[in-house]
Amino acid sequence: MTVNVLGTKYTIKIVKISKCKLLRENNWIGSCNQITKEILIGDTNEEEYFGKMTDKEKELTTKEIMRHEIIHAFLNESGLQDSSMQYCNAWAKNEEMIDWIAIQFPKILDVFKKVGCI
Ligand SMILES: [Zn+2]
Repeated sequence: MTVNVLGTKYTIKIVKISKCKLLRENNWIGSCNQITKEILIGDTNEEEYFGKMTDKEKELTTKEIMRHEIIHAFLNESGLQDSSMQYCNAWAKNEEMIDWIAIQFPKILDVFKKVGCI
């Protein structure tokens, strides 16, 4: 599938980590390539990487990884990736910050909708 991130098309692919050298060798469960504009999402059906999960857990995990990688794409397309290529984890590459946005965004959106501020 493809998504429009601030005017740039990103391709999102669900891949088996066992067959994806990039994810496997880096111990990643997802990635967002700022050059190729490709987002890879690890297939949660692979128990060796995700453990045994219910279908609902797989769905929620996949969605959370997608939000995480999409947030990276937004930061990339905002021109923030360059300033992140500095010594010692610039804020736009801070995994805690990315996770915070990815985890909190649906809740923030719900609140925005509820109060009608979006
Ligand atoms: Zn990340």
